Amino acid sequence: MCVCEFLDCFLEFAAKIQNAHRSFRRFIRTNTSASWTTMRKRLLSTISSSISKSKTHKNNITVHQIPCLSDNYAYLVELKNGKRVCVDPSESDPIVSAMKDLGWENNSLDFIWNTHHHYDHVGGNKELKEYTGCFVIGPDYGSDIPEIDVGIRENRDDEEKMSFLHDTETIQVLALPGHTLDHIGFYLPESGLLFSGDTLFAMGCGRLFEGTAEQMYESLQKISNLPDNTIVYAAHEYTQDNARFALSEEPSNQDVLDRSDHVNELRSRDETTVPFDLAQERKTNPFLRAADVE
Ligand code: ZN
Ligand code: FE
Repeated sequence: MCVCEFLDCFLEFAAKIQNAHRSFRRFIRTNTSASWTTMRKRLLSTISSSISKSKTHKNNITVHQIPCLSDNYAYLVELKNGKRVCVDPSESDPIVSAMKDLGWENNSLDFIWNTHHHYDHVGGNKELKEYTGCFVIGPDYGSDIPEIDVGIRENRDDEEKMSFLHDTETIQVLALPGHTLDHIGFYLPESGLLFSGDTLFAMGCGRLFEGTAEQMYESLQKISNLPDNTIVYAAHEYTQDNARFALSEEPSNQDVLDRSDHVNELRSRDETTVPFDLAQERKTNPFLRAADVE
């Protein structure tokens, strides 16, 4: 091969590499989506724990937070009486790994609680029920919850029903329509915990898919009337985006500024910003401050 031929070959090869490089960059750029983040999370999860946070609360209740899909949180809850609950399992794999990490036996999940029918809250129902034989409890509204065993709603006989199912802890069902019409929250007054699904987020609230703005406002007010020290377990990590919006609404609110800084700091270390407490939320969440902001 003469020098010219070699050079031609080399240039052709270089062009191919450049093209491949360009398409790879395009792939990364256009894949800001859930699938890319999920892939990244999956890779990370193979080298780290499936649980992002575990906390024991009043009345001896422990909550383990499990990141699912791209930005969902499901929860494994250990009640005082030893019963175990999974709240809003988006998918089953991360829950099963978390149960393994916790040393729970295969069949050691007693209940699933679903806050509403969206796939990223019920996607793990079927497989988890098959795997553990657990009981599925969700809103008694239409029949959109896969594998549901007991439908519940606020202001019926449900407090009794829930107490029967869980015996030692009072579990109140709050109707929280807005994001969807069937949306409910699980409130544990003795422990001061609320599982708020997609109704209240840190510094934000869920999008309106089925309900009206008035319904969402009422639902947020209902949450806002719970005691100050209520600890809220929400179903998504949206806080950084919510903080940006809160700042645009109230650029000189010092509480919002401080919290945004803290949120950015936590997220830069890939740490969770959930749960959060209601007192802080009332100071920094524009949707709970609606009356003050206007
Ligand atoms: Zn939803
Ligand atoms: Fe969701």
